Amino acid sequence: MDITAPRGTNDILPDEVGLWQHVEELVRNAAERAGYREIRTPIFEHTELFERGVGEATDIVEKEMYTFTDRGDRSITLRPEGTAPVVRALVERGLASMSQPAKVYYLGPMFRYERPQAGRYRQFHQFGLEVIGAPSPAADAEVIAVPLEVFRSLGIQDVIVNINSIGCPACRPAYRKLLQETYRPVLGKLCPSCVSRYDRNPLRLLDCKSEACRRALPEPPMILDILCPECRSHFDEVRRLLDGLNVEYAINPRLVRGLDYYTRTTFEYNVGGIGSQDAIGGGGRYDGLVEEVGGPPTPAVGVACGLERCVLAMRAMTGGEEYDAPIDIYFVALGEAAREKAFELAFDMRSCGISADFDMLDRGMKAQMRYAGKAGSRFVAIIGDNELAVESVMLKRMATGDQELVRQSEVAERILEARGGAAK
Ligand code: AMP
Repeated sequence: MDITAPRGTNDILPDEVGLWQHVEELVRNAAERAGYREIRTPIFEHTELFERGVGEATDIVEKEMYTFTDRGDRSITLRPEGTAPVVRALVERGLASMSQPAKVYYLGPMFRYERPQAGRYRQFHQFGLEVIGAPSPAADAEVIAVPLEVFRSLGIQDVIVNINSIGCPACRPAYRKLLQETYRPVLGKLCPSCVSRYDRNPLRLLDCKSEACRRALPEPPMILDILCPECRSHFDEVRRLLDGLNVEYAINPRLVRGLDYYTRTTFEYNVGGIGSQDAIGGGGRYDGLVEEVGGPPTPAVGVACGLERCVLAMRAMTGGEEYDAPIDIYFVALGEAAREKAFELAFDMRSCGISADFDMLDRGMKAQMRYAGKAGSRFVAIIGDNELAVESVMLKRMATGDQELVRQSEVAERILEARGGAAK
């Protein structure tokens, strides 16, 4: 049997998982510091949740979803993104009666049937923030700024923040029309996906990556020039708030993003050094989504960031190796009776909050010491016949090589002392 992982998936092996846990912890810290509470929704949902509406279909819905029929003949989709499930959950669980705005964050795997390449996978992880029930530009500025704190604390530097506004149902139709008029003369020269988007969602033509389209498309009219006064002042206020936080950003009038439910603010973070898939996150305002999912009209704004790309960016900048969690103590036992004692002592240590391990392979002293070294153990406790006879261990501090005979009943205390007395 030769079974390999499905294309586009990654295993996060024990050597790498320390780095992932570190990233996740910093995400949680930053989100919780800003008043967001975690929400966990199912990995799969009814397909209709992602196929809502008819108008502005997205790439995800058109071709990237993992959809299957379950045994009860229901169409099920592995979640390709976090926002729609979060909104579904809050609406279903009584958003209307919750205190508003609801500020939630999530962390977890998403699934898209994309062509895998560096930084683009079929199963990947995102963290996201959602503020539901706040029309204020302060909410937009906050969801733009909080991930920047995460990036900073991860050591990811030189993040470029692109922002734009794509208007609202009042001003966007006029812009769509203007775009269609501008693009009509070159329609014959465009790539097939732009041709199919021309009617449904002409805004997406703005960010087509195909060379042919880039050459053929005339300079588009700027949506920022025709925003309605409300959208205009919202955008100006978001910018003012970001300026107040000293967040540097670029205004990118082509930034429309793939998802269909955005209104007004859209934004994206890009970073160098991780190849062509350089967006590490993005988001925007989605004032129409809650209603689409069956809730009351509710303004909302959110952001989602790709954890694999954050990890890639960290590795590119810092190497990112120093996050392995070493164990506190490894018991090296020589002889049957000593092995049994080591086993018991390891459990004693663990019940005191100390991480401890022991040899399970009846290896010799050298091999046990090597294993302890590889595991990054801070202490090694050697137990042979002599130590057993006096109910002690030879406790060796690995950093200095110092060693002394310590009574078995006092080992835990020693380790805790060395840690500054704090239990883990
Ligand atoms: P989106 O939901 O498309 O706005 O994506 C938000 C962020 O998730 C992107 O900026 C990426 O960092 C990350 N992301 C999206 N799709 C993938 C993928 N297929 N593989 C890895 N990361 C992804």
